[in-house]
Amino acid sequence: MKLIDAAQVVLDDLLDGNKRFREGQPHSHKYGPAEILEISRNQAPTAAIIACADSRVSPDLVFDQPLGSIFASRVPGNVASDSAKWMLDIAVSEFQVPLVMVMGHTGCLAVGQLLDGDKMGAGGLHRFSVLSAVYRAKARNPVDLYLEAVEQNVLQTVEHLCYECAALAAAIAAGKTSIVGAVYEMHTGTVYLLDPQSGERI
Ligand SMILES: [Zn+2]
Repeated sequence: MKLIDAAQVVLDDLLDGNKRFREGQPHSHKYGPAEILEISRNQAPTAAIIACADSRVSPDLVFDQPLGSIFASRVPGNVASDSAKWMLDIAVSEFQVPLVMVMGHTGCLAVGQLLDGDKMGAGGLHRFSVLSAVYRAKARNPVDLYLEAVEQNVLQTVEHLCYECAALAAAIAAGKTSIVGAVYEMHTGTVYLLDPQSGERI
């Protein structure tokens, strides 16, 4: 998986932060009135992350990043929602973020609901998007269908965003942005990447 140089730098920084997080040695990001006022004046995020709404999957915390670092959209099942595309449009157009990440997670309730055949309820087409990922996973006949569905759901969202978000597609074509798929492994705190071609963990 080849990223543009600027994206690789940001990704390395996020993965270093993830290591600090899971080893219990995060940087102490403390915010007093002076820091809050300073942060309010400007922002220069370096990454845009589409993650799940799950209460245990906060990108800022699992990557040990201070306020102002990550532009984010969180929606159940980390699907390519309209709000996620709007977020990306701002992130690549206004802030020229070099790295876009779609981050799913093990034990995702949204994916689990569709695995259990629960197609009804709120979410509309986004629910069927997750169902599509479940079918993709079943076609690969995996040992662990739940995990495979989580991973296929990430890869599918990456594909959807590349096709459906014009600003992102233009930034990638211009060599200004790279997109990666990742999974947060809930029980270890580790974030690992997925190869967009093979779908394998890297
Ligand atoms: Zn989830």
